[in-house]
Formats: sequence, structure tokens, C-alpha cells
Amino acid sequence: MAKRTIANPETTREVRGRDLFRERGSEIVRVGPHCWVVPSRTKPGVECGVDLVLGFCTCPVSVYNHKVCSHVFAAEIASAKRTCRS
Ligand SMILES: [Zn+2]
Repeated sequence: MAKRTIANPETTREVRGRDLFRERGSEIVRVGPHCWVVPSRTKPGVECGVDLVLGFCTCPVSVYNHKVCSHVFAAEIASAKRTCRS
């Protein structure tokens, strides 16, 4: 039986999203009802566009692998913490 020593990739991304929000939360900006701009942790100066309805991000992880990346998780946390002011 294979050992499960490698963390689940989805869980890892969720943890990274949480770390990203903790470190760069102030730089995560809402640009539309469900759209956010999230800074990249690994590439300084690079920003990713996130659509929470589609679960889409403009970074290569999301575009080429069709996976939910850490930016989407970070934007979800930001969205949950910042309640709508309307
Ligand atoms: Zn991304």
C-alpha cells in the first residue's frame, strides 16, 4: 500500500492561499462584484486577476492546469472577511 506522505495538492493550495492573505491581504483589491486582483507571492510585481464565480485566475496554474490556485483561495478569504457595503 502506498504511503500518503505527500500533502493533498488542493489542501496545500488552500494553505498557501491562507498564507498569501495573511502576508499580502492589504494588497488584495476588489475590482468587481466577484473580481479581485491578488499579488503573486513568488513573482514580485506580478498581479493575478481572480473571478470567484468562475473560480478562475489569470496565473499559469489556473490557466494551463485548470486548477484552483492559491490566489483564488486568498481572494475567497478576502471576500469572506470584507462584507459588502451596499
Ligand atoms: Zn492564480
